[in-house]
Amino acid sequence: MKGPTEEEIRNVIIPLMLSGAKMLDRHCPKCGSPLFEKDGRVFCPVCEYREKKGKDQGGVDAILFEKLNELAAGLPDDVGELEKHLRVMGMIIELIEKYRKLEGAK
Ligand SMILES: [Zn+2]
Repeated sequence: MKGPTEEEIRNVIIPLMLSGAKMLDRHCPKCGSPLFEKDGRVFCPVCEYREKKGKDQGGVDAILFEKLNELAAGLPDDVGELEKHLRVMGMIIELIEKYRKLEGAK
């Protein structure tokens, strides 16, 4: 992962500096952003921001995708069971498509 983007500097780092957090001369091992200290806590605001953002976005379709992978990995040999599996997988794919359209419409 690379350091903060311009958007992250504007939305995360600058407001943090204005709020009185102290910028340390140490850098985050994960993304290379400067670490901050506030109320005795040392943290990387960029990683926290990315984590939060990732959770907000990736929620539903990430979960559905995981389930889809699970089903695909465990396909049964029995034709009747296989049909059931594939039907469920089709439903999940449809749901993911619908969800993505919904997200894109925002
Ligand atoms: Zn970081």
